[in-house]
Amino acid sequence: MASRYLEPRLERSSRAEMTRLQTRRLRAEVQHAYARSPFYRRKLKAASITPAAIRTLDDLRRLPFTTKDELKDNQAATPPWGDVLAVPFADVLRVHLTSATTGRPLAFLDTREDWYGFYHSYARSLYAYGVRKSDMVMAAFSYGPWIGYWSGFYAAQDLGCLVFPVGGLTTDARIDALLTYPITVLGCTPSYALFLAETAAKKGIDLATQTRVRITWHTGEPGASIPATKAKIEAAFGAKAFDLPGLTEIAAWGFECDARAGLTHVHEDYCYPEVLDEQGRPVGPGGRGELVLTSLYRKAMPLIRYRTRDLVQLADRRCPCGRTLRALEGGVLARLDDMKKIRGVVVYPRRVEELVRPHAGVDEFQIVFRRREGLDDILIRIDPSPSLSLAERDGLGVRLAEDLRTGLGIRTTVEMAEPGSLPRWDHKAKRVKDERTEVPF
Ligand SMILES: [Zn+2]
Repeated sequence: MASRYLEPRLERSSRAEMTRLQTRRLRAEVQHAYARSPFYRRKLKAASITPAAIRTLDDLRRLPFTTKDELKDNQAATPPWGDVLAVPFADVLRVHLTSATTGRPLAFLDTREDWYGFYHSYARSLYAYGVRKSDMVMAAFSYGPWIGYWSGFYAAQDLGCLVFPVGGLTTDARIDALLTYPITVLGCTPSYALFLAETAAKKGIDLATQTRVRITWHTGEPGASIPATKAKIEAAFGAKAFDLPGLTEIAAWGFECDARAGLTHVHEDYCYPEVLDEQGRPVGPGGRGELVLTSLYRKAMPLIRYRTRDLVQLADRRCPCGRTLRALEGGVLARLDDMKKIRGVVVYPRRVEELVRPHAGVDEFQIVFRRREGLDDILIRIDPSPSLSLAERDGLGVRLAEDLRTGLGIRTTVEMAEPGSLPRWDHKAKRVKDERTEVPF
């Protein structure tokens, strides 16, 4: 039987062996950052730490955090790259931009070796889903400076797959390609997977029976780790869907495996994970906290203790796949920056999606945080399936309101929009509006 691991020695290494490898790489990375990156030299000096003080993985906790805001401020102060850069400019091979919601996006540079590390670890994830050399792959991400398209493309090519380049194609042209060529694997955001399926259905095309897609993978948003969203994508494509959490600044750091046990493994030989509680203390197995990652492979922009703002839960069980790589329960549980407080209750948009998606009659939805008569309120706007009768729409609204009230612990307003009236998303979805922060003028 063919191996289920691309790199069994690393994916199944003993804890002692992994710790040795991580320690060696961490020391080299800190040494390199201190010697070559003005940004990190300043930070470490301000914290009165020299690289010699970092001898074990536990010593990592003595180092200061790095935040995205800090990197953005640094690039704004010293445009265009900031002074994190720790290699000569001539050694840089790739530039990617993060997707910014506010301000200028962060520009991220990689050397040839850095870039290889990014896509090779990604390839290991694809292999864990079951993607093989004989597959034909479509990476349906936007063509541009974002890393999603390039990393997916290069990762599939790294496995020897034939990759069909569709970055610049329209949705119609992509559907046509899926019907015409023997494409067996599709990568895209979860929102786009649903949009693709809906667009095909409008043309009378059933992607589940009329294409050869057997595996889909999803990144850019947490949707594929939300069971109801994943089930919807799997039904639309007649394929197995997998989640691939990642960050331009760190790596495509995690992956679900073919055991499909609800766990997300971390490529911990590429990026060292810490899961920290609100006081910055490491949580134990089963504990929840913010994921903080330290790059163990990148040399152009070596990030140390980078705060991902992702809320995760450390697994306290072994994955049946046999990998020993650290695992998280259920992927990214929430984006800490997305947290909203409504009448004293904490609400995450992901939780709303978990409650809305199981209802088959919902094609799209929108979450609006607003203030009504001085009180905070959540409006959930639903774009119902056009196949529903008016009476069925009303029934759906009542069931949704009840599920949301029970699931969130707070009353919400559910509004039925006209079928097809809410925006659809071909990249990362923007389903959340917070009108409370939008000042009227
Ligand atoms: Zn596994």
